[in-house]
Formats: sequence, structure tokens, C-alpha cells
Amino acid sequence: MDFGLTAEQQRRYAEILNATREQLGGIGAPAGHLRRERWRAAARLGLTGLCLPAEYGGGSLGALDTALCLEAFGRGCPDTGLVFAVSAHLLAGAVAIRDFGSDEVRKRFLPGLAAGELIAANAITEEEAGSDTSRLAVSACRDGDDYVITGEKSFASNAPDADVLLTYATTSPGDGFLGTSAFVVPVGSPGVTVSEPLAKMGLGGCPAGRVTFRECRVSVSCRLGDEGQGSTIFAHAMAWERACLFAAYVGLMDDQLERCIARARTRRQFGRPIARFQAVSHRIAVMKQRLEGSRLLLYRGCWLLDEQQPGYAGAIALGKVAVSEAAVANSLDAIQIFGGNGYLASAGIERYLRDSVPTTLFSGTTEIQREIIAQEAGL
Ligand SMILES: Cc1cc2nc3c(=O)[nH]c(=O)nc-3n(C[C@H](O)[C@H](O)[C@H](O)COP(=O)(O)OP(=O)(O)OC[C@H]3O[C@@H](n4cnc5c(N)ncnc54)[C@H](O)[C@@H]3O)c2cc1C
Repeated sequence: MDFGLTAEQQRRYAEILNATREQLGGIGAPAGHLRRERWRAAARLGLTGLCLPAEYGGGSLGALDTALCLEAFGRGCPDTGLVFAVSAHLLAGAVAIRDFGSDEVRKRFLPGLAAGELIAANAITEEEAGSDTSRLAVSACRDGDDYVITGEKSFASNAPDADVLLTYATTSPGDGFLGTSAFVVPVGSPGVTVSEPLAKMGLGGCPAGRVTFRECRVSVSCRLGDEGQGSTIFAHAMAWERACLFAAYVGLMDDQLERCIARARTRRQFGRPIARFQAVSHRIAVMKQRLEGSRLLLYRGCWLLDEQQPGYAGAIALGKVAVSEAAVANSLDAIQIFGGNGYLASAGIERYLRDSVPTTLFSGTTEIQREIIAQEAGL
């Protein structure tokens, strides 16, 4: 067992960390809209196409290497909304097209997605279908060489800025897991409307919106995989998202810990640095323990996914739960260490919490991950 990163992995990590710090560091998260110039800066660094095939302009990286790059991005860029937006575009959107699109669909969309000229949004959640995605009200009815899609998606990150929607619809009501199909829908298609950005607690750099389909007609070639394969495609895209996107939060925790250590060393009370109080130094030790434990679980999930080893879904779920719970707990601790300043927006500490809270919800809630873990344990 080798815990070391290769020279190439270290080089790539350092390059992305330095470049994102230089080009995207020190910028507060904007509310509501993803700013195209920041998106383009991330795209120039290759972040929008990390794991897309080189023949379409991507980096052809596997899951672990993709995760390491997103970890560096999450550490170097304080606009976690942007990091989330790029990661969701790549993992929940482009990966499904990479692995299930026809040659025609791959050629049409992957070069633009890899280059970041096209932005993808994943739209599955509905008002009445959140954790349970087997009963989607959005339907797709076959009509000759087309499908007609009707209904509303309630929460799609990137949607207000997206060019391409990856969406899921019921094609065979009553068939549950086998009744859903996946579609790629260009945003300009007749019948598609996207709402204004929804007001959220954090991740301000990533707008989310509702998507309405009013008898939106798409050609059969826009279907990914076979009819009825939608749930499998969604599970596959979520495995990639849970494995790699959460690495950005490992990077966020690295950045946060560095700042907490620096603060504990320099902030003096009662005539000494607060780091000298064991209550503070042990709080930081526990933060480090959560960070390193969750990092190892995440890397292991990525490695199993790359190796296509049995049990990868459970391992990825373990990593997702560990990273998200660590990110929320460490963010509360960071505020405590910074005291009153930790609560002021100007110090840039409270935003870690606002950006971390949704990690236990998106890409499948903690409770749903525990169901996956329990199932793999034979329960
Ligand atoms: C920041 C953010 C970004 C998002 N981005 C996207 C996106 O890009 N595309 C998209 O389609 N969706 C997106 N979502 C939506 C997200 O996927 C859903 O919020 C999530 O799947 C949970 O669904 P829900 O909110 O309807 O909660 P519900 O499913 O109603 O769950 C409510 C509570 O009940 C629990 N629960 C439900 N079922 C079970 C069960 N079987 N066992 C135990 N507990 C259960 C849940 O864990 C949760 O605690 C995003 C959400 C957030 C917060």
C-alpha cells in the first residue's frame, strides 16, 4: 500500500493550487450569478474537462486524479460556489454524456463542455421527487423520432447559466427503476424555460434554478443510453460526483485549517497566543483528525471507482458522508477559534459554514448514503 502521490500528481496539484490562488483567490463569492470570466479562468486551467476524453479536448484523468485537481481548486479558490459549479458541470453533467452518449451526442457536446464554452446542469430533483428519484413527474413520451418532455424540475445547479441540461424523465410509468430515461436538452430548445436564480444560504457563485419543460420536443438521439436506463446513468454520474466533487471540500478544509492554525498562533489573550490553551489546540487537533480521516476515505472511494472494484459505491458513500460531516463540524470550529470575527462576513470564515451545510444534502443526503452503506454491509 502506497500513500504517496506520484510526481505527476504533485505537479498537477501544485500547478492548480498556485494558479487558482493567483487568478481566483481573494475574491468574495458573488451572489446569484456565476461570473463568466471566472468560469473561463477555471476552463483555461483545464478544470471544466478534467476527466473528459483527450480526443474531445479533456484531460482524460481518472477519478482519483480528477479528485486531486478539484481538491487543489477547492483549496485555492475561496469562491466555493464556482468550484461547485465547475464540478457539477463536469461530474453530474458531462460524465453522463461521456459514458452514455451516442457518438453523435459526444461529438456535438463534449468539445464545448471540456473547453468550458458550454455549461452543463443536471436536473433530476422535483418538488415531489427528491431522495426518491424513482417516481419522476416529468415525463417523456415517444412520438415518432422524437420525445416530448413535460413537467418541472425544482433545483438544478448552474441552470440559470447553462447551455445544456442533463435531465431525467419517466418514459414508462409504474416501472420504477426501469421506467426512467436520461436526456440531453440544449437550453434554447422550444418549450424550455429556466427560472431566475433561487436565493440560497451559500454557494453564491453557483446559481440554481427551476427548469420547466412545456411539450419540449427533442430527437431520440438526445436520449442517453437505452430507454429505461436513466436510473443506472444517474447512479453512475452520482458515483463520480460523490467521489470527486467532495475532494473540493477536502481542499476547503485544508485552507480553513491553515487559517485557524495561523490565527491561533498570532491571536493573544491573557498574555499568550490562544494556541497555548489546550481547549484551542485540541480543537484544531480534532479538526485535523476529521480532515485526514475523510481524505483517506475519499481517496479510497476514488481508487475503487478507477479500478472498478466491487463495493465502490459503498466506499464512495462512506467518503461522501465523512467529508460532508467533517466540513460542517470544522466550519463551526473555525468560527469558534476566530471568536466574534469568525461571525463577521468580512473575515471570510463564516462562508465556510454556509458553503458546507448543503454538502449533507446534495448528491444524495447523508441518510441516503447510510442506506447505501448499510445495503453493502448486507442489511
Ligand atoms: C446546494 C444544492 C445543490 C443542489 N443541486 C442540485 C442539482 O444540480 N440538480 C438536482 O437535480 N438537484 C440538486 N439539489 C437537490 C438535492 O439533490 C436534493 O435536495 C436532495 O436529493 C434531497 O432531496 P429533498 O431536498 O427533496 O429532500 P427529501 O428527499 O424530501 O428528504 C428530506 C429529509 O428526509 C430524509 N429522507 C428521505 N428519504 C429517506 C429515507 N429513505 N431514509 C432516511 N431518510 C430519508 C432525507 O435524508 C432528508 O433529511 C441540490 C441541493 C442543494 C442543497
